[in-house]
Amino acid sequence: MSQSVGFIGLGIMGQPMALNLVKAGFQVSVFNRTRDKTALLEKAGARVASSPADAARDTDFVMSIVSDSAASEEVMLGKEGVLQTVKPGAIVIDSATISPVVSRKLACHFAGKQASFLDAPVTGSKHGAEKGELTFMVGGDREVFERAMPVLKVLGKKHIYCGVHGTGLSAKLAQNVIQSTMVEIFCEGFVLAAKAGVRPEIMFEIVQSSMARAALTDFKAPFIFKGDFTPYFPLKWMHKDVALAMEAAFAQGVPMPVAAAVKEVYGAAKAQGHGDLDYVAVITFLEGLAGVQVRVEQ
Ligand code: NAP
Repeated sequence: MSQSVGFIGLGIMGQPMALNLVKAGFQVSVFNRTRDKTALLEKAGARVASSPADAARDTDFVMSIVSDSAASEEVMLGKEGVLQTVKPGAIVIDSATISPVVSRKLACHFAGKQASFLDAPVTGSKHGAEKGELTFMVGGDREVFERAMPVLKVLGKKHIYCGVHGTGLSAKLAQNVIQSTMVEIFCEGFVLAAKAGVRPEIMFEIVQSSMARAALTDFKAPFIFKGDFTPYFPLKWMHKDVALAMEAAFAQGVPMPVAAAVKEVYGAAKAQGHGDLDYVAVITFLEGLAGVQVRVEQ
């Protein structure tokens, strides 16, 4: 008999992840707050649940990827949350990027129900989710991590065990501080060059021929040059992640002067109404300050 998964949160990431689990032969029950988004999964063979508790009922695994700490707390601990029905022995995998402190609290609640909990945030964005090529950063008991591999293997190509509860998230926040800063400083450099009259395609050729070249900006630059800000990773979530990293930095006494400034740049772009666009739309805020655009005629 195939193993079962209750899957919660069918957003940009959750939709393709849940679909891959159905295709791999798991019995999948899905819950999404906005019910319309369950249609594709239902068609593929998933059962549509009426609440997170209903999705988690009698399943071997529960996986959740909702937006932020408050959403994870709601779907896990709320009146109709997973904790109400989770089966003793089940493994709850939370792949949302949330506060490590909140995540450790969730782990304690599930331990009280004899269920195991992993923080298992991901990188790889929408394409990685679609292809089953995400990278997972996992915190929790190693033995539980190993038992969760049948699910994690379907969804990802790399699975990195980080240590005790919360360390997967601590790693994820550090990774997004690096990623947000790389994109932000790339945009600053290109705005500077454009203001001086250096065309973006010339500047890009120079960056690609130098040690400043990076896989991330190689991938993102064409979207910036086209002004295509279709959300793969929404800017509001990047702002959330840098803000979470700053909270962690404060708690641990770690000075992060550049990240503090980068957080405000993403915050300003969000305040201008760009939160639902891809995070590379941060360039529009910088372009506005300088009075220039970084675009290549298509
Ligand atoms: P998204 O498209 O905005 O989806 C968010 C999901 O959370 C939706 O299913 C939404 O339900 C649900 N949700 C929000 N608040 C809720 C609540 N109070 N109760 C129940 N459900 C709630 O976001 P996403 O891009 O998939 O990202 C999800 C998580 O993965 C975030 O933590 C993000 O930082 C992380 N992440 C994203 C990427 C990426 O590239 N997109 C990469 C790595 C990690 P509705 O449909 O009803 O709104």
